[in-house]
Amino acid sequence: MRGYLRACLPLQALLLLRSLLPRAPRLLGNSFSLSLALQASAALSGSVPAMLGLGLGAASLHARARKSGFVAADLFVRTALVEAYAKAGRADLARAAFDEAPRRDVFLCNVMLAVYVARGEVAEARRVFDGMRERDMVSWNTLIHGYAVKGEVALAREMFDDMEDRDAFSWSSIMSAYAKGKRSKDALELWQEMRAACVNPDCITMVSVLSVCGDMGALAVGAEVHQFVESNGVELDVKLGTALIDMYAKCGDIDNSVRVFHSMPVKDVLTWSSMIIGLANHGLGHDALSLFSRMLSEGLQPNEITFIGVLISCTHLGLVSDGKKYFSSMSVVHGVTPKVEHYGCMVDLLGRSGHIEEARQLIRGMPFEPDAVIWRTLLGACRIYKNVEVAEEAMTKLRVLDPHADEHYVLLSNIYAQANSWECVAEMRRMLRRESIQRIPGRSSIEWQNTIHEFVSGDRSHPRSKEIYKMLEEMMDRLRQAGYKPMTGLVLQDIDEQSKERALAEHSEKLAIAFGLLTTPAGSTLRITKNLRACEDCHSAIKLISLLYERKLIIRDRNRFHHFSEGQCSCKDYW
Ligand SMILES: [Zn+2]
Ligand SMILES: [Zn+2]
Repeated sequence: MRGYLRACLPLQALLLLRSLLPRAPRLLGNSFSLSLALQASAALSGSVPAMLGLGLGAASLHARARKSGFVAADLFVRTALVEAYAKAGRADLARAAFDEAPRRDVFLCNVMLAVYVARGEVAEARRVFDGMRERDMVSWNTLIHGYAVKGEVALAREMFDDMEDRDAFSWSSIMSAYAKGKRSKDALELWQEMRAACVNPDCITMVSVLSVCGDMGALAVGAEVHQFVESNGVELDVKLGTALIDMYAKCGDIDNSVRVFHSMPVKDVLTWSSMIIGLANHGLGHDALSLFSRMLSEGLQPNEITFIGVLISCTHLGLVSDGKKYFSSMSVVHGVTPKVEHYGCMVDLLGRSGHIEEARQLIRGMPFEPDAVIWRTLLGACRIYKNVEVAEEAMTKLRVLDPHADEHYVLLSNIYAQANSWECVAEMRRMLRRESIQRIPGRSSIEWQNTIHEFVSGDRSHPRSKEIYKMLEEMMDRLRQAGYKPMTGLVLQDIDEQSKERALAEHSEKLAIAFGLLTTPAGSTLRITKNLRACEDCHSAIKLISLLYERKLIIRDRNRFHHFSEGQCSCKDYW
């Protein structure tokens, strides 16, 4: 039986046992053969032995052993029994077998812990953990992992801090807890701690860190991870490579993203899709589409994520008829059913290219209820084409679907302002106040010396705030001299003209740029990440800054990248 088990043939082991039992009924009365039988049963994971009518599932093995007068005092057998019950999906019987054990050691307890963690019953796992007389690294790591999966970041961290010894698994568990919980700042701090403690990160940890870097635009830290991979000869597997591609693209460094893509020996659909989306978001739609055809010619099957990238490419290039072709090929040729996101892309494509009515028809014909994102997309298109009527329809829907977001009010009042409907702009202002709609504060961040510096509008909390505002003033002066006029019509608060100008000047991205000009050498590229869409005033100011200061500025807003250089933006003012 042991031979079969070692050869990974658990079913053969059980069949042998069954053929022997009639001649040797007391066979299961000794701990050696019983534990082998239990292991074989567990390895067949669950009910298979019972289903096959072998009568050799965990429960019958346990019953037979009892009948033979066997008291499983042997810890090894006891552990095998708990494991066999757990694998058979009987946590209750596993627990009963655990409780009956005359004695428990750390291995037995760890198995019980793992059973609860695998079932997501972390509180129960914690009770077992607290009752343990001795614990090893596995016990701690199992529980941290359990908390991490449940999203209990604080509890995971508490355990992590209480550990005396940590291994790579402990670090990767806590890191994935932070990444999952979107606790990006903590995750980056932990990464620095880990490097300082000279712990070599495993692939899971690096993938988690890279995803956080991508979210935050922390390019220097992401590049540090890449550096570690290269200098330690870590194999660039599909997951790690794809995470690097994604990180570089999201941090605004599309060149390195492409470099990683070409250096990967093995790629999967996600790798190709990440690259296509990255190129598309950077306005490199032609490259994205030619990559897509190469992907098809290499025989890969595109999935729904791939098509998001393809449709974004068409949108940024204004390729309406190609976009429609790709959209209909999804289900017809590739068997991928379009989801609400794909319809959103199509509404964006049609709307941005001025086909507002067609976009509206597409929304009406959608096989599911349009969500707030779809209507906001249409509203955005109405802003570009000054379509008040459709904008008002979209707004009616948005006030039901997403009543607390201020963004649509801002968009619609911009549309009214463009149409010189100042009475409607005033009504929007009143509505904002009356319905006490929370304004989502704009946040912009910029990385400097491996740390993310974040600014909100009018922020004065930065330690170098004084210098930043001095630089901001100087910057605004230079802009005005070059002909910039603040678009005070965009400011929705009821304040005087001068205060409106100041409010615009203190928008978070302008503060981040002032900080960047202050801290980085002349001529270097500034990379900024913003949580919302950039306003018209900032967009035109930044174009001018790129010209006056001879800087490239790469700004990621909620939807896309803007590459500013020599007074122009890659979005061609459609965003
Ligand atoms: Zn702005
Ligand atoms: Zn732009």
